[in-house]
Amino acid sequence: MYVQSFCPVMLHQVQLSKSLTSHQSYGPMSFSSLGLTEPIIRAVDEKGYVTPTPIQLKAIPAVLSGKDVMACAQTGTGKTASFTLPLLQRLAGSFQVKPNHIRVLILTPTRELAVQVAESVAIYGKHLSLKSAVVYGGVKINPQMMKLRGGVDVLVATPGRLLDLFNKNAVKFLQVETLVLDEADRMLDLGFIDDIRKILALLPKKRQNLLFSATFSRDIRKLTDALLKNPVQIEVSPRNSAAKSVKQWVYEVDKNRKPALLSHLVLNNGWEQALVFTRTKNGADRLVKKLVGDGISAAAIHGDKSQAVRTRTLADFKANSIRVLVATDIAARGIDISELPHVINFDLPKVAENYIHRIGRTGRAGLLGEAISLVSADEVKLLSGIETLIRQLLVRKVETGFIPTHNVPLTRLLKSRPKKPKKPKQKQDEARKTAGEQKSGGNKGRRGGKSQDTENQKGAKRGRGKQRRDSAAVSAKNRLSAKSNRGASKKDNRGVKS
Ligand code: AMP
Repeated sequence: MYVQSFCPVMLHQVQLSKSLTSHQSYGPMSFSSLGLTEPIIRAVDEKGYVTPTPIQLKAIPAVLSGKDVMACAQTGTGKTASFTLPLLQRLAGSFQVKPNHIRVLILTPTRELAVQVAESVAIYGKHLSLKSAVVYGGVKINPQMMKLRGGVDVLVATPGRLLDLFNKNAVKFLQVETLVLDEADRMLDLGFIDDIRKILALLPKKRQNLLFSATFSRDIRKLTDALLKNPVQIEVSPRNSAAKSVKQWVYEVDKNRKPALLSHLVLNNGWEQALVFTRTKNGADRLVKKLVGDGISAAAIHGDKSQAVRTRTLADFKANSIRVLVATDIAARGIDISELPHVINFDLPKVAENYIHRIGRTGRAGLLGEAISLVSADEVKLLSGIETLIRQLLVRKVETGFIPTHNVPLTRLLKSRPKKPKKPKQKQDEARKTAGEQKSGGNKGRRGGKSQDTENQKGAKRGRGKQRRDSAAVSAKNRLSAKSNRGASKKDNRGVKS
């Protein structure tokens, strides 16, 4: 039932398990048995892959045959290689690209993901003489225009910057043979649908289309119906249902004690690498200050940091010279850090699906991972939404010294999830900015540069008095609900103390 609501692609199709590791074996299939040629197999071999992952097993032959593909898969499943390897092979066997033209267009929602995909293209294509490039917003456009001058076989792009380049005649689409929409759900979340429509209208009608998405909402389905012709449908089990390697639990804690609890957990448990999610950019910066003040090396990545800083921070974190990386959802999207042991939800995400995206950063490569959420009383609705989505009540713990004065009310699995809040347009614009993008077409869609946090701060000030009143109400309600719940719920998930 869960799979249907989350990823209802085609239950009659093979449902594949995910999570991979270099040197991990997936059975007798090899890359060469999928029809890949020697230069590609050599590159894959050098990368240390032994066998194809489940999504690669299904997608590679389909893409090689020129078919459209619709795949329900998220980062961590090996999806990038599943489309890059066969596309490179198809390109290698045919004609040359003309100046300013491109042959494969890969659209991604964020610059981080764009960079990561472009790196994969370069690695997998290193024994082929193909040209590739990556373009995204937030950096100078001229060097990107120069790169496109001679034409490139594979262009990885975020939508807004691609349109800017098109408007400057720097890129031409007449030779496009294949379009890949990577993390399509995220693109729609970020409000890129108009840009995507514009781009689709510019592409040659006859082309191959590949669409990858972690979730399949009605909007995604609409897009796939319009875009794909008789697609091969592939589903990889979503992480939450399959990733037994991720241990998930919740710490009940008062909101104002969360920063102290986080420092305590990092120091007490000797965590060497933790990715921490906050809801806002200011929240991320404040938390970094607190952690650093407690002697923990930490840094933040979010939309107010320049691309150069974000890239450097990520590299430092990967190299273990930063212990805690604090990120907002958008900034963290697409980050591929193998063997990341701890993911911490400092704030629960407003959109339950983001919980899945967040915890998908750990438990990779078949290794054990821990996904820990710090939950305060005011977040109980968000907690309930997440639990209903993942069809599982999360184990609750209370850390000694951090016993909350405001109880987090007990939850139970609901029949349906609370409605996903519609993202206000301003938030979409903000999210796009964080993703390194501006809506194409000049200033349309930009709103006076007010940051989300500025808005949040104002809201927070307005809401502070209310929050105090709410907290008092919550604890009164808790006392009541605790009474009525005591011994009542067989599904009670509380009571695990550390
Ligand atoms: P992706 O889902 O494309 O973000 O890939 C997640 C991680 O899996 C990346 O670090 C890839 O290098 C790695 N990977 C991709 N394919 C394989 C494979 N067949 N065997 C082992 N690791 C892989």
